[in-house]
Amino acid sequence: MKIINKTGLRTDQLQHLIKEVAKKELVDLKDSIFTIIHRRGGRNGIAGYAYYGLPARVTLKVPKEFPIDKAELAYVTAHELCHTQGLRHKQMKNAIYSRRYANKHNIDWRQHYLWANDLPLEVTSVKVAVPVPKSYVVQQKRGTSASGRWTSGRRR
Ligand SMILES: [Zn+2]
Repeated sequence: MKIINKTGLRTDQLQHLIKEVAKKELVDLKDSIFTIIHRRGGRNGIAGYAYYGLPARVTLKVPKEFPIDKAELAYVTAHELCHTQGLRHKQMKNAIYSRRYANKHNIDWRQHYLWANDLPLEVTSVKVAVPVPKSYVVQQKRGTSASGRWTSGRRR
């Protein structure tokens, strides 16, 4: 199992939550890849998508705001794992995997995932910018810019 984590959330804790969902859903995570990204445009709620079939290729989209709704993250993970089992939405007509179904029938989908609230999901320490080595700092030639200011080169 591989996690590509583009959020500030702790990768080990994300992995643990996903593994717990997979254990309950009896999904084999061998060779699976989960990508965790932020939702764009300040959207709330958790979203995701997955390819049909194994090994699992799942993308989970979480809000930038902290804390993350862990029960919802577990729900969306379970939903996407259904897709990795080849299930389409019309085959997920129950309150465990479909919020639409749950809302329509006035059932609390969240009750199935409250266990996830007991798992830790913290933000890693704020990333400190790494100073750019001098060899990568190039001075713009005189005349190429009005200010002639220093500019940092592209880091490898
Ligand atoms: Zn879906």
